[in-house]
Amino acid sequence: MKILVINTGSSSLKYQLIDMTNENVLAKGVCDRIGLEHSFLKHTRIGSDPVIIEKDLYNHKIAVQEVLSALTDSKTGVISSMSEIAAVGHRIVHGGEKFKESVIIDDNVMAAIKECVELAPLHNPANIIGIEACQQIMPNIPMVAVFDTAFHQTMPPYAYIYALPFEIYEKYRLRKYGFHGTSHKYVAHRAAEMLGRPIEELKIITCHLGNGASICAVKYGKSIETSMGFTPLQGLAMGTRSGTIDPAVISFLMEKEKMSVKDISDFLNKKSGVLGVSGVSSDFRDVQEAAENGNERAKLALDIFCYKVKRFIGDYMGILNGADAVVFTAGIGENNDLVRSMILKDMDFLGIVIDEEKNKVKGKEIDISAPGARVKTLIIPTNEELAIARETKKLLS
Ligand code: ADP
Repeated sequence: MKILVINTGSSSLKYQLIDMTNENVLAKGVCDRIGLEHSFLKHTRIGSDPVIIEKDLYNHKIAVQEVLSALTDSKTGVISSMSEIAAVGHRIVHGGEKFKESVIIDDNVMAAIKECVELAPLHNPANIIGIEACQQIMPNIPMVAVFDTAFHQTMPPYAYIYALPFEIYEKYRLRKYGFHGTSHKYVAHRAAEMLGRPIEELKIITCHLGNGASICAVKYGKSIETSMGFTPLQGLAMGTRSGTIDPAVISFLMEKEKMSVKDISDFLNKKSGVLGVSGVSSDFRDVQEAAENGNERAKLALDIFCYKVKRFIGDYMGILNGADAVVFTAGIGENNDLVRSMILKDMDFLGIVIDEEKNKVKGKEIDISAPGARVKTLIIPTNEELAIARETKKLLS
């Protein structure tokens, strides 16, 4: 059974074709600059070099057509025809309170995903365009929606209700939702496999540290708390996002700097975080290099990032009443040993001690705990595409 996984952004479309008999990726790629000049498709047949196909991708439907052409082409392809694709799994950012798990897409599901646009105006419209493009081109192939928010729907109300007048929640469903759920769920399950124990008896703190970053407390396989909120702006300081700040900063800045609603939103989402503090970059490799060359603001930005992750780990240790494992994943979590080391320094009181030699790895599944540490510290590369393909397969059977 071959499953096509699609992740659509406003001007991009990422894809992977996965053979679910052995979970091997057959081909993957990205359509970039859709609707813009100089659009192209970068396609990789696994085992071959990537090819760049320059094409006018006027819209997502044309992008999907190009993906299918690349997948079935005699040179770049891995299947002989579209009919070999058993199903398509779509990553959807926001499922609101309606979707507690993945679902097969039908008209009712589409209507409900559209209702969630209000909650994720930057993301869900692109996801919907991606589904509709696939439906037009592959009308007879079943499609599944896998939501970033679904895994966190097990949080208790005292975790997800903001301390605002309750009517606001009732009126707008304004509450904490949390994101990166597919990744948190995937690495938590993988951690249980690595520890050789059922997830139903484990307490795990998963740290997804990429451009966007969030932490999740997973108790007996269920998310009970996570650091992102109503939007992916809450929680940790991130590449370009402020994370949690005093909400009064918003009215202060709007008044003093004459900022509009859009200005302040861009300021907090795109100009803050590690980029804003360092003034160097949102990419940790650049910021780290600058810090090593004596740039004090770059050093401060790294310190702020790590300090906040440390605080969340401590917080979740508290609400979980101790944890069995802490997991690091995503670009920074998997690859940046300095950041892991800074975060986990002086946490022996909580049972977290790492082996600094073992920590010097990149992108590898490994237990980096020091011998005898009460809490296991694990690096687990995330694989959201495989997680989406597994959900899709599960629903089809
Ligand atoms: P996104 O949220 O966009 O998927 P990623 O998970 O790719 O982001 O994380 C991006 C961050 O990960 C960057 O700050 C970058 O410095 C870091 N990163 C990614 N790959 C590596 C690597 N091989 N070595 C060191 N850092 C890396």
